[in-house]
Amino acid sequence: MTFFGNKLKEVTVLLFQPVNKNYHEFCIDRDKDLCINCKVCVRQCSYEAHYWDENRQKVMHDNTKCIGCHRCEALCPTAALNIRKKPSEFRTNSLWRPVFLQNIYKQADTGGVLLAGMGSPVDIPVYWDRMLLDASQVTNPSIDPLREPMELKTFLGAKPKKVNIVTGKNGKPELKTKLTPQLELDIPIMFAAMSFGAINFNLHRAMARAATATGTAYNTGEGGLHKSLYKYGKNTIVQVASGRFGVHLDYLKAGAGIEIKVGQGAKPGIGGHLPGEKINDKVSETRMVPIGSDAISPAPHHDIYSIEDLLQLIYALKEASEYKVPISVKIAAVHNVAAIASGIARAGADIITVDGMRGGTGAAPAMIRDNVGIPIELALAQVDQRLRDEGIRNNVSVVALAASAALVTSSRPSHWARTPYTSAPPL
Ligand code: SF4
Ligand code: SF4
Repeated sequence: MTFFGNKLKEVTVLLFQPVNKNYHEFCIDRDKDLCINCKVCVRQCSYEAHYWDENRQKVMHDNTKCIGCHRCEALCPTAALNIRKKPSEFRTNSLWRPVFLQNIYKQADTGGVLLAGMGSPVDIPVYWDRMLLDASQVTNPSIDPLREPMELKTFLGAKPKKVNIVTGKNGKPELKTKLTPQLELDIPIMFAAMSFGAINFNLHRAMARAATATGTAYNTGEGGLHKSLYKYGKNTIVQVASGRFGVHLDYLKAGAGIEIKVGQGAKPGIGGHLPGEKINDKVSETRMVPIGSDAISPAPHHDIYSIEDLLQLIYALKEASEYKVPISVKIAAVHNVAAIASGIARAGADIITVDGMRGGTGAAPAMIRDNVGIPIELALAQVDQRLRDEGIRNNVSVVALAASAALVTSSRPSHWARTPYTSAPPL
């Protein structure tokens, strides 16, 4: 090769070498004396960071693909692996912090918006962790939770201002007041919504079974409900989101509650996108979309542009479900959440679900996930106060969503998942 040919090759290599190759976050240390080349790590790493090298006849790895989950380390039979942070330091600069530089490199390598799943790991104060619980000692008899049963049953739905209770024939109290439909839970905790397609069928079925066993409810998310899970309907909330995936009459009648998803805490004002590679035959049948086609959820419901429009959808769903189940409306925690909640209560919803900015997601632009919205504790206080001030607090139950959704992807991660976004530490 000529001098110029060599130079051209050198420049080309430099130009097209991914920046992330040198600025990855984690290092995989493999102890050569301990490794027995069993390939467990190759099979267990869903990011394909470990691979079998045919020429060298041994297991090798690519540090740039590691996201630091430590799965391979935990499952290696000979404890040959050690996953550690890359020690490389950046020059101190409070504006250009390492985390921002790393994300710019990742974005430059992929050429796309950095997406992230789960809940935001950003260090926003968690007010719940600072909450102190009061206890009764003298005027009310105290309850010893180790020896006495505690009542945790919860009913979600509108409540009357007064109830009329009479003694029944068997001497037990009976409620005379007719209540609107309620969602009955044995414990005051539910599964957050996760859609079939974003998570796989086994996990959806596992949630249905777990909700049934514990007397709580799981939520289909926006992906519809597979027919084989209809039998868990008493513990299922079926969701109606902007894409209307899998929504039909049988579906609306299959659950113990219906949720209209207007917003999501991890990405307020943003829709969803399930890549076509995740739409297999089961997902396609359940969502009612062609196999392999992308499932796009628009940011808004295209038939809801006012509280009056929302009212129409709420009552359409009440009609469809013959007024037998409560209707919930899910919104993201944002600055005017209290006014929105007031409108929702007045539109006839039975439950308002407020999703805080730490809420989970299958995928969202990482900048949005980590920087948009307000914490659930602040939103909840605002909503509760506003509804009380307006004298309509009894018209709705309020559900708080805040934590990360536990997610298992139903197929191998897309290209963006291999270049995980790094969340900024607090200033
Ligand atoms: S799991 Fe452990 S022993 Fe097996 S190939 Fe990987 S590093 Fe080697
Ligand atoms: S820590 Fe997780 S991502 Fe990294 S190599 Fe191991 S299994 Fe793969």
